[in-house]
This record gives sequence, structure tokens and C-alpha cells, in this order.
Amino acid sequence: MECKDLLELINQYIDEEVDASVCEKFEKHLAECKPCRVVIDSIRGTIQLYRGDQPYELPDDVRNRLHETLQKHWSRPQEG
Ligand SMILES: [Zn+2]
Repeated sequence: MECKDLLELINQYIDEEVDASVCEKFEKHLAECKPCRVVIDSIRGTIQLYRGDQPYELPDDVRNRLHETLQKHWSRPQEG
């Protein structure tokens, strides 16, 4: 799994709608990729603020911040 794949799955992951096998890959990526981990942590914090009994959708500003963070990460040359 790459950062882009993770980003696409974030909503499903948050809603706990991903398959167990996908979830495993997701978390494996998180274990190896610090920027994604930071993103997920901040999203989780946000969800706890927003989430009540209603279905959760990422607010636009969170989504934008997420894209910015990951794009910075992606635009860096790969090292090691
Ligand atoms: Zn990543």
C-alpha cells in the first residue's frame, strides 16, 4: 500500500468499513510511514470531537489539510 491508497481508504477506514485484510495493510503502512500516522492521529482526534450518533464525514478543511500534508510528503524525493 502507498500513501495515495491510504488516502483513498481513509474514509472507509474511519467508518470501519474496510475488510480485515485491507485494514491490516492499512495499519502496516501506518507503522512504516510516519507522515501518514500523524495524519491519521490528527483525524482520529478530530473525529472524537465531531462524532456523535451521526454518520461522520470528513470536514472539508480536515480533508484539505490531509491532502496538503500528504502532498508535501509525496513531493519529497524518495530516500532510502
Ligand atoms: Zn504513507
